Amino acid sequence: MDTPLKSPIEYLKGVGPAKAELLKKELGIFTFGHLLLHFPFRYIDRSKIYPIAEVTEDLPYVQTLGRLSALSEAGEGRSKRLVAKIQDPTGTLDLVWFQGQKWVKQTLKPGQLYLVFGKPTAYGSKLNMAHPEMELVASKESIEKNSGLRPVYSTTEKLKKKGLDSKQIEKLQRLCLDLCSKHIYEILPPEILQEAKLVDRRLAFHQMHFPQSMEHQKKAHFRLKFEELFLLQMRILRNAKTRNENTQSIPIPKVGELFNEFFHEKLPFELTEAQKRVVREIHHDMKKGQQMNRLLQGDVGSGKTLVALLSMLLVVDNGCQALLMAPTEILAVQHFKSISSFLFGLGIEIKLLTGSTSQAERKIIHAGLRDGSLHILIGTHAVIEDNVLFKRLGLAVIDEQHRFGVAQRAKMWKKGQIPPHILVMTATPIPRTLAMTVYGDLDTSVLDELPPGRKPIQTAHYYEKNRLKVFGFIKEQIAEGRQVYIVYPLIDESEKLDLQNLMQGYEAITKAFPSPDYKVSIVHGKMKAEDKEAEMQRFKTGQTQIMVATTVIEVGVDVPNASVMIIENAERFGLSQLHQLRGRVGRGAKQSYCLLLTGYKLSADARKRLETMVATNDGFRIAEVDLEIRGPGDVAGTQQSGVPTLKVANLVTDQKILAIARDWAKLVLSADPDLIKPENAYVKKFTETLTDNRISWNQIS
Ligand code: ADP
Ligand code: MG
Repeated sequence: MDTPLKSPIEYLKGVGPAKAELLKKELGIFTFGHLLLHFPFRYIDRSKIYPIAEVTEDLPYVQTLGRLSALSEAGEGRSKRLVAKIQDPTGTLDLVWFQGQKWVKQTLKPGQLYLVFGKPTAYGSKLNMAHPEMELVASKESIEKNSGLRPVYSTTEKLKKKGLDSKQIEKLQRLCLDLCSKHIYEILPPEILQEAKLVDRRLAFHQMHFPQSMEHQKKAHFRLKFEELFLLQMRILRNAKTRNENTQSIPIPKVGELFNEFFHEKLPFELTEAQKRVVREIHHDMKKGQQMNRLLQGDVGSGKTLVALLSMLLVVDNGCQALLMAPTEILAVQHFKSISSFLFGLGIEIKLLTGSTSQAERKIIHAGLRDGSLHILIGTHAVIEDNVLFKRLGLAVIDEQHRFGVAQRAKMWKKGQIPPHILVMTATPIPRTLAMTVYGDLDTSVLDELPPGRKPIQTAHYYEKNRLKVFGFIKEQIAEGRQVYIVYPLIDESEKLDLQNLMQGYEAITKAFPSPDYKVSIVHGKMKAEDKEAEMQRFKTGQTQIMVATTVIEVGVDVPNASVMIIENAERFGLSQLHQLRGRVGRGAKQSYCLLLTGYKLSADARKRLETMVATNDGFRIAEVDLEIRGPGDVAGTQQSGVPTLKVANLVTDQKILAIARDWAKLVLSADPDLIKPENAYVKKFTETLTDNRISWNQIS
């Protein structure tokens, strides 16, 4: 055993087999090193003891010293609680416990002197402290040696029962740090330490557990967060580099006839500057022999489809095929139609492949793909699951990636003999931190400009009660020739209920908007593809003025004359969904509106979502708020999203540190691509051992 950091935790004095089992189970601590990574989540300033008379509600956590009264029970049923008082010469303070009452009763000794630590809160006209930390003290004098900052460690009821409360863990940490300290080596190159003003690694561990001052602790914390994020970025960038170097794809050098003819003769409008820039970026990427892996972010309505189309033309011009995959059938059909009509007369063969494509049609498609006579295939995920093989697939475009997992992206590679270039498009902007981690291996392009003439959508929140007002508004809009979406949420528990909900809504709408003055369409997930398509078509061509739908219309659907989006039970939708839905309007030159209808009962999160929607149209801002509310895993799509589990840093709150760390990682890699310089030896070792997506920190030296 060369380093005690790897010693099994049961060998630490005071632990033993039974406690070790619990530490492993409850906190994932298997070794001395793991224990040292179990950092305090808070520190108590034990140097200050407040006289009870000075304790107010505004204070954060405070410490007082006093004698404990008898404990008694109060309340019944769920509000049953244990109460007591703590008294010093200046006054008394109520203490209360809702949980672990038995344990509290067994351990606390009425009549004794206690150091009491907790957050004072107002309860009626009085103050109390719920679940305070209680430390028995022999006498006032005996406290002195504990003064200063003390760490507070998270623990569990089970651990506490075995005596492993925060204070015991603190003791173990002290012991462990003594044993291991000299084995904690610096791993970052000296240049970074200096330039980024990072404290030494060993010192950082000391100052995290037993800080001299909060300032010291902050520096230590910064250093360890930086290290974690730096190593993460290093790994992502190195992976990307290895992949880019090793993955050859088909070079797409020339801008050919098809592209030029379309661009100069068919394109009905001028490209935005952003579209031009992005098409150039994509071409530049595909020219080289190396595989393109690019993420195209552009807010709803920024014109991503056209960018995809131009990219596909480049590929076809170079004798290759292209694939466009969409998350829903409706969207695939829409892409197929608009792209077919854009390209009409250019002699390009385009086909649609979805779940409802017939066997006979499939056969034709498969044959066309294999002999190369089919140039562009558009479809749903059926195109990857299906046994589809291409003669020469040059580019795979994936629209609205938030519906596709990382694993599915990889499946695209197997569609031809040579992996195709990959373009992932998303309208749900990914917060920068996530873009740098989850999609850190993709190059990014941003469409940060909307086509000219668009007016920002006006969004408002209405309570159910004002439904009539909303209906009145719908009538006005329809009278002006506009069209309206009314969307109902999916309630996961029961599809039946969903449908019921939707059908009831539909009935109410047809009553409020009766034929023959009004025509109402309905689309939902349970309909047959051709019926769905027929209804969409009726709406698109203006035969119906109102479209009642579930979220099947969430992504991509493009009906420029629709200018009102009503979202029923808006409190049930997530932020990115609301933003997507809103993006269905505001596509024409007319002023568009989004009305969010909700009940009165709103959770704090729901309120925040609604407020955000009303306040901004900026998809990036919305993505940031979404990240704050839901956390990185959920935003990126949980499990397969590849959001790393971080020990010290936090992807939501440490965005700045992440950006700095990424810049450093890039810098180091550009100067020493294979990390062969001696000062980068440790970094190399660390980034190579952390092979899975999560940073495991199996060892800290
Ligand atoms: P999204 O980025 O949300 O996928 P789309 O590609 O569906 O957006 O484009 C939205 C609408 O804007 C479509 O009707 C499209 O034809 C139109 N459009 C795209 N580019 C331009 C442009 N440069 N000028 C005018 N309209 C454009
Ligand atoms: Mg789109």
